[in-house]
Amino acid sequence: MDPGPGTPQYLCCNCVGDSFLSAEIKTKGTVASCEFCSSSAECLPISEVSERVDEVFRANFRLAEYAYGGYSGDYADGIISDMMGVDFEIAKAVLNHLARLYWRDSSDGAGFYYADDEKYDQVEVGSLEYSWMWEEFCHSIIYVSRFFDDRAASYLEEIFSGIDRHQTAAGMSAVRTVDPESEHSQVFRGRLADSSEDLLEIYLNPHTELGPPPAHLASAGRMNPAGIPAFYGAFSRETCAAELRPAVGAIVASGAFEITRPIKVLDLTVLDQHLLSASMFDPGYRQDSDQKSFLHDFHRQVRKPILPQEQDLQYLPTQAVAEFLSNRFKPRLDGVIYASALTGGENLNIALFNHAARVEVPATTPEMIRSRPPLRGYFEHDSFVIQDNSQDGHAAQSDPLGVGRDYAHVFGGLMDLHHRSDGRVNTLRYVERSVELRRVENNTVSTSLITVLQ
Ligand SMILES: [Zn+2]
Repeated sequence: MDPGPGTPQYLCCNCVGDSFLSAEIKTKGTVASCEFCSSSAECLPISEVSERVDEVFRANFRLAEYAYGGYSGDYADGIISDMMGVDFEIAKAVLNHLARLYWRDSSDGAGFYYADDEKYDQVEVGSLEYSWMWEEFCHSIIYVSRFFDDRAASYLEEIFSGIDRHQTAAGMSAVRTVDPESEHSQVFRGRLADSSEDLLEIYLNPHTELGPPPAHLASAGRMNPAGIPAFYGAFSRETCAAELRPAVGAIVASGAFEITRPIKVLDLTVLDQHLLSASMFDPGYRQDSDQKSFLHDFHRQVRKPILPQEQDLQYLPTQAVAEFLSNRFKPRLDGVIYASALTGGENLNIALFNHAARVEVPATTPEMIRSRPPLRGYFEHDSFVIQDNSQDGHAAQSDPLGVGRDYAHVFGGLMDLHHRSDGRVNTLRYVERSVELRRVENNTVSTSLITVLQ
C-alpha cells in the first residue's frame, strides 16, 4: 500500500468524516482520483493532510508514560482514525507518513515521534485562562466593588460566552428550556419545622411558607443577595431535606411546586456528562475544551457546601453570576440546575432567580378567611393531628384545610398584596395537598414519613 516517498497519494474530502478537515480538503484541494475510494473529488496529497494531522496531534497528545501496570493511552492509528473520522487504512497511511518524517532519534532523548507500537495520552485540557479570569472577577467582587463594574461584567461575559454550544451526545445543551409538564417541571422545596405551630402554619399557607420568603426576610444565599429572594428547590424530597442539613430527629416539611411557564436554565450537570466532542481541527477547539473544563470546576464551586460563618463573602461571586445570568446574559436565564453536594452529587437542585421565583397566589376571598375555624396541631405518636379548636375536644371537621388556608392572619394578607404588585410574572404554582412531613433518621437521606390526620 505504501508507495514510498515521491509518489503522491491523494485523499478526497468524502473519505474524511471530520467536518472541519473535510471542508479544508474541499477548499484547498484539486479534483483528482482518490487513492482510497477511487472516486474523483477534491483531494489533497496525503503528505499535506498529514501535516495538518501532525499539528493537531502534537497540540493534543503526548507519548504515554509508563505507570504501574503498563502504559496508559491509545495507539496512534486509533487516535488518528477517531480524530479524522476515517477508516484504519487511511489512518495507517497518515501514520506511516508521519513515522517516516518524525522517527525516533535516540540522540534526542525527549523528542516527539510517531511509531505504530507506541501509545499516546491526551494532554489534559487546561482552564488556566478562564480560572485566571474567574480569580480576577472574584477578587474585584469581594474586595473592590461589591457590585458589578464594567471590568467584572466583561470577565463574566468572556467566561460564559457561547456556553449553549456545549451539548451531550444526546443533543442536550447546557442552556435549555424546561417546559411545564415536562421532566424537571415539578420541584420540591423543604423547610425545617421546629414546632407544632410552624407545622400548622405550613399546612395552612404552603405557598407562602414553602415558597421563597418575602423580600424583607430574604437572607443571602448562593444565588441571591439579602433582600432579593430566589427559589431554591430540588427534584426530590430527599434532596431538599438533605440540603437543609437537618439534625437527627428534626422534622422537615416539603411541598411540590409546578413550573407553569417555559423557563430557560443553565444546567451545570450537562457539563459533567460526556459531551459531544468537537472537531480537533476546529481552531476554537482548545478554547472550547478550556471553557468546558472551567465550567466543570465552577459547578464544583456552586455545589460546595459553605459554612454559615463563611457565607457573606463566599457567596458574593456566585450571587454576582446569578445577577449576570438573569439580567445581562443573552438569552436571559431564569435559573441554574446543579448537583447536590450533600447527597453524593447525583441528586439535582434548582435555583430560580428572583424574576422567576414568584409563586402564584391562590384566589382567596375575605369570606373564606373569616369562615376558617381556629385550628390547632399536635403530635400524637407518628402522626401530626390538625384539629378544629373552636370547640375543644370536638372531632376535627371533615375538611378543615379545604377553605381559607391561604391567609393565616392580616399581616400575611398584606404581604401578599405586596407580592401581587411587584411586576414579576408567576413561574411556580404550589401543588395542592402536596405537603409531606418527614422525621430525619440516622442520616440526612433516610427519613420516615409522618402521617397527617385532618
Ligand atoms: Zn476518497
